[in-house]
Amino acid sequence: MTSILCPHCEQKTFSWWHKYLTGKWGVLRCRQCTGRVCAQPIVLAALYFFYVWDVVLFGYLAWLDSLWYLLVMVVGWLILDYFSVYVPLTPLRPADGAASPAEQSSDPKQDS
Ligand SMILES: [Zn+2]
Repeated sequence: MTSILCPHCEQKTFSWWHKYLTGKWGVLRCRQCTGRVCAQPIVLAALYFFYVWDVVLFGYLAWLDSLWYLLVMVVGWLILDYFSVYVPLTPLRPADGAASPAEQSSDPKQDS
């Protein structure tokens, strides 16, 4: 079931599972236009700051006080996983450095 728009071709070619994988720094390839897509890296980096904060804070509290903080850490991790699905997708250039598929089709000045 595909319901997420590709930022290259604006077609619904990605599923929520694909979106979840981009939240784990995955790079996807569109089935329609073969453009490469990833999650917005700055937003993802901010989100991963909270992952580290979650593990360090509640791991430390579990070591200091009670193992129940490990449960709090897991719940916090799941909440962050939920938000990772909503990090917007961003188009990537092809790995060989050529223009992206959307640029190739819309830019008439390009000679190659
Ligand atoms: Zn596409």
